[in-house]
Amino acid sequence: MMSKRDYYEVLGVSRQASDEEIKKAYRRLARQYHPDVCKDPGAEKQFKEIAEANEVLSDEKKRSRYDQVGHAGNDDGGFGFDGFDIFEAFFGGASRGRGQRKRAERGSDLRVDLELSFEEAVFGVEKTIESHRLESCKTCDGSGAKAGSKVETCPLCHGAGQIQQMQRTLLGQFTHIATCPKCEGEGKIVDQPCPDCRGSGKERKLKKLQVKIPAGVDSGAHLRINGEGDAGSRGGPPGDLYLVLFVKAHERFARRELDILTIQPLSFVQASLGAEVTVETLDGPRKLKIPAGTQYGTVFPLKGLGIPALGTARRGDLLAEIRIEVPTKLTEEQADILRRFEETLGDSAEHSASFLDMLKSALGKH
Ligand SMILES: [Zn+2]
Ligand SMILES: [Zn+2]
Repeated sequence: MMSKRDYYEVLGVSRQASDEEIKKAYRRLARQYHPDVCKDPGAEKQFKEIAEANEVLSDEKKRSRYDQVGHAGNDDGGFGFDGFDIFEAFFGGASRGRGQRKRAERGSDLRVDLELSFEEAVFGVEKTIESHRLESCKTCDGSGAKAGSKVETCPLCHGAGQIQQMQRTLLGQFTHIATCPKCEGEGKIVDQPCPDCRGSGKERKLKKLQVKIPAGVDSGAHLRINGEGDAGSRGGPPGDLYLVLFVKAHERFARRELDILTIQPLSFVQASLGAEVTVETLDGPRKLKIPAGTQYGTVFPLKGLGIPALGTARRGDLLAEIRIEVPTKLTEEQADILRRFEETLGDSAEHSASFLDMLKSALGKH
């Protein structure tokens, strides 16, 4: 509302102007500055200013109030004027959403979920996947027209996809541009639609794709396959296909970043005396030397038998964590041997780790 122009000045009339002079001035200016006619950047603002001036000066009550108090009467809401209201009322919002020929559109992206075994995720795999994607219709070659029928340039817009409409208003005639109602902006008319795609020019087809899953992928990973989504419209590019991976749990192995965790059971005799055991790995069985006096929970890393870091030759480790199995069924003879063994320990049964160390290790686990 600052430095607002005088309404008489806006319409270019004197303060003594008659109603008829105001009406004439308004019509002339509105026609000149209508945004569909005048392409100057300030035209819309100017148009509203003109409409507002007219709204006040063409109303006897408002005009006399304006003559007394000027714009102050407007500032306190006295005129209750909103430039937009009148703008919309006269032109029905026609200057908005001006018609345009539809642009090329990129096709939609597609998603396919793919389940992998643990081994496939670690070593990579080649898979055949299936997607139902929109493709250009083979029958009509994407035109949407039935064989023998023609695709014709729209007779209403002559292929432009938009038309100029004359609109009569209180202020006279205006031309404005709208999307062609006959071809809905396509610029073309299909006289008999293709029966396979019902005129859309596209059909959903089962597409099989060979994809290479790289070594080292994990659950939730997305692989983007460029250009394998739905076909685009009006010459637009196709979308992409996203493969979302799920890795099945393995009964023997678990992934921890680039390492693979496994459990290596030992009898308490093997743990006490030391042993050579066979560890199952994804790369086949491997020998592992267990030193005498190995404790429950000890982890033996088998270097380089873990998960490959994506795109590199580097691999994590296989971590074999020791579980010591306590026998649950002993023969009388075995029980006897163990009792005699305990007697040899005497009163001060010696633990290989201090009580405090064991406590610390227990705390670390929980
Ligand atoms: Zn077709
Ligand atoms: Zn048309």
